[in-house]
Amino acid sequence: MLLAGMSVHAQMQKIPTDESVRIGKLDNGLTYYIRHNGYPEKVASFYIAQKVGSVQENEDQRGLAHLLEHMAFNGSDHFKDNALQEYLQSIGVEYGRNLNAYTSTDQTVYYIQDVPTTRISALDSCLLVLKDWSNGITLSADGINQERDVVHNEYRMRIIGMQKILEQKLPELYPGSLYGQRFPIGLMKVIDGCSPETLRAYYRKWYRPDNQGIIIVGDIDVDRTEQKIKELFSDIKVPANAAKVVPVEVPDNYEAIYVIGKDKEQPANLFLVNMKHDAFPDSLKNDVSYMIMDFARNMLTKMLNERFVEECQKAESPLLQTAVSDGMYLISRTKDALYLQVVPKEGQELEGLATALRELKRAKDFGFTDTEYERAKSNYTSQLEKIYNNREKYKTNDYCSQYVQNFINLEPIPSIETEYTLMNQIVPMIPVNIINMMAKELISDTDTNLVVLAALKDIEGKKYFTIDDMRKTVAAVRTEKLEAFVDNVIQEPLMAQLPQKGSIVKETENAALGYKELQLSNGVKVLMKKTDFNAEEILMNATSAGGASVFGTSEVDNLQVASYILSSSGMGKFMQTDLKKVLAGKQVSINFSLDNSRHGISGSSTPKDLETLMQLTHLGFTNLTKDEKAVNTLISTLKMVLSNISANNDAVFEDSVQSVIYKNNPLFRTPTPESLDRISYDRVLEMARKLYGNAANFTFTFVGNYDEAVLKQFIEQYIASLPSKGTSDLTGKEMRTFAKGLVVNKFDKKMENPQAQANEIWRSNALKYSLSNNVLNDISSRLLDMTYNREIRERLSAAYHAGAKGEVETDGPEIFMLITGNAQLNPEKAQEAIKEFHKGMDATVASPNVEDLNKIKQILLKQADVDASTNRYWISVLDRWNRFGVDIYTNYKKTVETVTPKDISNYLKKVILKSRNHYEVEMMPQ
Ligand SMILES: [Zn+2]
Repeated sequence: MLLAGMSVHAQMQKIPTDESVRIGKLDNGLTYYIRHNGYPEKVASFYIAQKVGSVQENEDQRGLAHLLEHMAFNGSDHFKDNALQEYLQSIGVEYGRNLNAYTSTDQTVYYIQDVPTTRISALDSCLLVLKDWSNGITLSADGINQERDVVHNEYRMRIIGMQKILEQKLPELYPGSLYGQRFPIGLMKVIDGCSPETLRAYYRKWYRPDNQGIIIVGDIDVDRTEQKIKELFSDIKVPANAAKVVPVEVPDNYEAIYVIGKDKEQPANLFLVNMKHDAFPDSLKNDVSYMIMDFARNMLTKMLNERFVEECQKAESPLLQTAVSDGMYLISRTKDALYLQVVPKEGQELEGLATALRELKRAKDFGFTDTEYERAKSNYTSQLEKIYNNREKYKTNDYCSQYVQNFINLEPIPSIETEYTLMNQIVPMIPVNIINMMAKELISDTDTNLVVLAALKDIEGKKYFTIDDMRKTVAAVRTEKLEAFVDNVIQEPLMAQLPQKGSIVKETENAALGYKELQLSNGVKVLMKKTDFNAEEILMNATSAGGASVFGTSEVDNLQVASYILSSSGMGKFMQTDLKKVLAGKQVSINFSLDNSRHGISGSSTPKDLETLMQLTHLGFTNLTKDEKAVNTLISTLKMVLSNISANNDAVFEDSVQSVIYKNNPLFRTPTPESLDRISYDRVLEMARKLYGNAANFTFTFVGNYDEAVLKQFIEQYIASLPSKGTSDLTGKEMRTFAKGLVVNKFDKKMENPQAQANEIWRSNALKYSLSNNVLNDISSRLLDMTYNREIRERLSAAYHAGAKGEVETDGPEIFMLITGNAQLNPEKAQEAIKEFHKGMDATVASPNVEDLNKIKQILLKQADVDASTNRYWISVLDRWNRFGVDIYTNYKKTVETVTPKDISNYLKKVILKSRNHYEVEMMPQ
């Protein structure tokens, strides 16, 4: 249909591949992509993608594609045992964040990101890592035995709720297809008991150059890199009778498939409705028609989703949330589906399903209106323009992901310029009719290829509907006579009348941090720092002392959700749904925040939409209005999530941790459905007037690519004009009620997937905010993180994740340092593992691991450069400087470089352990 539709308008043409990426193929079939890219500077990323995954497994190998992925980090030709991880850390690559992998049904991808390019030997070593991954993984019997439990622990942690339901119901969702038997996590009996040879067989059979693509992007010499690839990879042979990767088909189903899945840890009742259709053929994806199709389905789903947002906000709607997309059917790349996810209100499940299907049918019967389409198009083109204008700063890792998708799925990779030009020609030529035709085609009204899964909370004694009820609901909607959708639009500007301008009364400059400071006539302070990190980004952050402490714990019910309520409120005469419409085509966002002792508004925009951001900010301070519909939807959604939270082990554990640290202070507990019932919207708006009604105390920070004269003009118009009494009596009082000394909380919980969890938390006494304490706390936590990972995950195989993190608690007038050791554990090994937290701390106090310390320094020094080229980082630098008078930028690297083992020891002894504030929380399965 679309091919026919577009051929009227455009010549069939190939999408030209970006010429800035060098793509080549060795004789043995290995594909490579190499590109020089300068953002971020002085780093490069290395990927290897395999066109195989769990679907290539034999029955006795179920789960081994994933186990193999784990083994890639546990010994290879050039990197024995843990040497790969250790080496990469020593050149500044952070394990987990910059070094990782994933396995799915049809692909397995490994990556090393942000490798510093200053040392050429480091780049060569990374190529060697890729080579080892391609055909040099050791797969020793000992190594495999060691890793079985780690994967089993991952299963305990991940396969809960929706994942559990999918795992169980996959055969019914894929009748007659191997996909139904190849959920990537596999079978635990295979993981626990497979012979090493079974795993090796998979590796030998499928990891071959003709199934592999390597991708290297960054601040590199392309010619040299290509030469190195040829040297390293050309000798790898493909066996003569190598098995072919054959696409696994998903047969059409001529009768509808209805499935009901239940799990105790499923957080909400929901439906997944799939209307399957053929995937766009890979062989045609380099044709412009593919871009047109992709644009059309993008418009179709965008407009449907807008309608769903409106529908969900109706008081009488049985829906809480509904979203639609079009793409891969669940886990199979050979089949696509229009995919509807429906979250109904409690007790109105079938009505919810009917309502969602009705909206689909309405779109099929009547199509979309011109005004809806205009908005969707303008959102699309402004997003396209944003990418185009910032094309010089397109991120290295984003290029890498695109090349992975090109290699695996043949997704086209035109240059940003080409895509911009092409789409600007195409978009105006696609009338709404084409989208309406697509709606008719994709939204099906027959049983063919319909698959509906109901995923329900398994609550004892609770009765739900039957499959027959679902079938009847679907059939009934099909026979309904509907009316066309009416698009209500307010044709008015955001601000009909501009406020009375204020003025800038004083301007100073800070050379060290490169920002300007303005004093405004209404007492507001503004910090502004112009950067060129992103041509299309300006960030704004406005904060003031105050926050929850202005009202106190007695108002806890309102305070816990106040920032969400404010962010969901109307502005002036615009309700949330109107705002979405009036802001169509604008790249702008705004959010309220309310912490213990501070509150604020933050936002972002492009240079073009800066005035809109300023207007929204002004309205946020002066003209918040009640949007009952939006806020009711918000609260109902929260209630639904919270109603079954006792089944969510992570949430229960986290709540217990908070309760221990803050001595059961209700402000730090998780809200309950009952506490949500006590919220008064009027009172929340009254609180907002108190917090935002007088701007005198606020500091605004702008960081990004603004035009200074323009920004100043807007500041006078919209910020200096904010109502103010000149001074403010709001101060941020201490709300935190930290427990002192040793507190232990050990408890049992009934679980579907038995898994233990433990936190060991150390907290300092109150301190002064300082750069050196920040750095010492960060490094100490990272030392412990490496130790815990080594001892608990690698040596004991007791956890999928075991580590530590450090925090600087700044949300109050006093500063505290926290170090938290955390692990999700195999219950049988929990007690042994928990001892390691203390052992690790004692060992680090006695003599910090010097090798680890050096690795951490490399990681932090490299990350400092990457961070310092983002606007987000500078917002926090200016915030710290403004609040504490501490410059966390200028001497950061020097501070990191000069940390000695003795400093760490002293810090842990004199700052962290001396306080004797220590909390232990353990949750064990009943
Ligand atoms: Zn894994």
